[in-house]
Amino acid sequence: MHFGQTPEEIEASRRGLLVALFASAGSLILVVFGILSLLEARNGLAAILLLNAVLCLSLLLYNRLTQAHAREVSYFFAGQAFVLALYLTLSGGVEGSGVFFAFPVVMIMVMAGFSTVRGAFALCTLLMGVMALGLYGPFPAVYEYDPVQKPRILVGLAALCLMAILAEWMRVRSYRAITDTHDQLSVDARHDPLTGLLNRRGLEEATRTMEDEAFPAAVALLDLDHFKQINDACGHDAGDVVIRSVADHLQRHCKGRDLLCRWGGEEFLILLTSTSGSSARALLDDIREGFARTPIVLAGETRSLSFSAGVAELPRRGQFDAAVQQADRALYRAKQAGRNRVLAAGVEGRNEA
Ligand code: GH3
Ligand code: MG
Ligand code: MG
Repeated sequence: MHFGQTPEEIEASRRGLLVALFASAGSLILVVFGILSLLEARNGLAAILLLNAVLCLSLLLYNRLTQAHAREVSYFFAGQAFVLALYLTLSGGVEGSGVFFAFPVVMIMVMAGFSTVRGAFALCTLLMGVMALGLYGPFPAVYEYDPVQKPRILVGLAALCLMAILAEWMRVRSYRAITDTHDQLSVDARHDPLTGLLNRRGLEEATRTMEDEAFPAAVALLDLDHFKQINDACGHDAGDVVIRSVADHLQRHCKGRDLLCRWGGEEFLILLTSTSGSSARALLDDIREGFARTPIVLAGETRSLSFSAGVAELPRRGQFDAAVQQADRALYRAKQAGRNRVLAAGVEGRNEA
């Protein structure tokens, strides 16, 4: 099953989009205001605004080029917004109107910098603290707001911070719920619910990421003998019990990087890593003997069961399908030869191919 983008990729592209939006819109606004300030001979303000525009565009470019660093870039962007909000408020911009622009900039700061409620809260508290100090402290460079306005500026910005944190927290909560569901679906899609083993899709995916040291490997395909009779005589539920007990039995014999999969109804596939074909066949024979020797109690009756298996070598990555086909033919021969046995694809396998 293809799940599309992973939640991590979605989050990264959200941050990338935020950076792109804020940086392009922000730099445009900053350039316009920077030029206006220049025309009004407010050279200090113009320099700050144009410098920020250049920073915005550099971040945009960096994000486009690196792609992988959307998170870091957005944090940097939050820091830049922090400084800009402070500057706009404390310098007053044009006749004290800078504070109006500090509001959207604080919003950008929270949106770009949010990772946890605690972190966002700390950032906003720091901003409010520095801003209060600037507004009430003995700093001649700070714009002289009307004393009535100062607490209102602080309360307004604090309220905006709280709203922005709340909105981001709710977004992250929904995002986490989606992430958890995605992870669960992803596990379910690759495992068999009856036995908990890998299913065919899970196995095929796992084979693609096998390390080089896992080769040469071997593929064993197992099929229970006369399983229909169990279902017919003891019921489907008893059949399920048998399937689970076979899975447990096989699992006990798989080691390290070996992969065990419920291939189909009562068929299992074992991918034995770092082994030769002959060792794999010998191991499968041990497993078969152990299984045949262990009776199972079904519907009050003790029954002895067996399976047949075909084993094929898997010398290299990329030959998995061919090895399964060979193992399947060997399994067919094992059934023909009377069941309860393990046959290697070996010479016969090559003759059949
Ligand atoms: P053979 O020795 O030739 O393999 O004979 P068999 O009776 O085992 O034949 P086959 O392998 O074709 O039988 C498969 C049966 O497995 C048919 C189906 O009813 C049963 N089966 C498949 N999946 C399940 C399952 O999940 N639970 C149960 N109880 N039975 C299943
Ligand atoms: Mg079968
Ligand atoms: Mg069978």
